[in-house]
Amino acid sequence: MSTPPEPTWRCSSCGFTLKAATPPEICPMCRNKCEFVDVSCYIPGCGGPEGADPRLK
Ligand SMILES: [Zn+2]
Repeated sequence: MSTPPEPTWRCSSCGFTLKAATPPEICPMCRNKCEFVDVSCYIPGCGGPEGADPRLK
């Protein structure tokens, strides 16, 4: 059994990314209630050190 990878979230305000099951209510970077968008890498080969899909902006 293996745990599924956690989604990657990116703050729409400052661009901070993190991996978590659910996005935080307060962005730890800009300390605002930002909207976090799911930028998880769902397809192989999309790359990026964060595991985020660079095509999603
Ligand atoms: Zn932020």
